[in-house]
Amino acid sequence: MPDRAVFLDRDDTLIEDPGYLNDPSQVRLLDGVPEALAELKALGYKLIVVSNQSAVARGIVTEKVLGKIHERLEQLLSERGAFLDRIYYCPYHTDGVIPKYTRDSDLRKPNPGMLLAAAEQMDIDLSRSWCVGNGYCDVEAGSRAGCKTILITHSSTPGRPQAGQASPDYTAVNLKEAVNIVKRHGRSPRAESVQTQSPDVSPDEPNAPPGKDNYQEPEGVSGVAEQLPSSGAAEPQTPTQEDVVPGDRTEQLLGGILEELRRMRRADMFGEFSVLRLMAGIIQIVVLFCLLATVWVLMNPDRQVNSAMIGLGFAVVLQLMALTFYMMEGRR
Ligand SMILES: [Mg+2]
Repeated sequence: MPDRAVFLDRDDTLIEDPGYLNDPSQVRLLDGVPEALAELKALGYKLIVVSNQSAVARGIVTEKVLGKIHERLEQLLSERGAFLDRIYYCPYHTDGVIPKYTRDSDLRKPNPGMLLAAAEQMDIDLSRSWCVGNGYCDVEAGSRAGCKTILITHSSTPGRPQAGQASPDYTAVNLKEAVNIVKRHGRSPRAESVQTQSPDVSPDEPNAPPGKDNYQEPEGVSGVAEQLPSSGAAEPQTPTQEDVVPGDRTEQLLGGILEELRRMRRADMFGEFSVLRLMAGIIQIVVLFCLLATVWVLMNPDRQVNSAMIGLGFAVVLQLMALTFYMMEGRR
């Protein structure tokens, strides 16, 4: 019987993304990643990294250095009891400067080439597999390969995919929550899929021969650069200014704030405990109350602008405090 797998994006899913990662010493695991991977492995999933590495084509990193970066990643994971089954990467990009790698490729996400190659080489049942990543290109690749998909969201993640792109089956604040979703789905096979949207592009057959040039080899390179596809992408479906009446705007604002609070609460639930983060979270909630109070004062018929300005001032100062705590936490 074919195996099942979890396909994992690399940057901002497993490790921090400082931009173009081009040195093994820059590899930093995200909180909770080794534990989450060990749990997935215990559930019987193969763990396969699928990563766009346009930095190779751009000449920012060589495949040799990329190999060392991946060795470092595997070393850090193994020190904490987690092991990957294979790392695939796509070094190609049409904007490259290295002729060998300057071309389009079915391996590059959002194309599903790397997942299809892995399925063929490692006997993977894609319909029982998952694709997890922090970009809509990961979701699109997973969806086109026939996997269930989980989008790891950050505060900067766009709220919706571009037109024509697949929506994720689920969203999670980090890999730890993604594992919970996989476990929950495993316990309840009929679990409802959330807002699935079929892509209107049919899966392509990979033209590039799978294997040699698209997954980890000792001769590696570095580079990061996950890029969302730009070709053929339509404008996001956002309402125009004229379409939005003031009531809608307030509703949207409050909806956005509530969504962000929900995301932060989930991040706290599935993140590692930290006093700094706890304090930042509490302050963030106070900021929300200040903002709500400001909105309420402004909407009041006998609006008191001074009171609103005081509320707004408090919100700004407290928000700066919260950001300071977040930055201190990030530097630990
Ligand atoms: Mg990524």
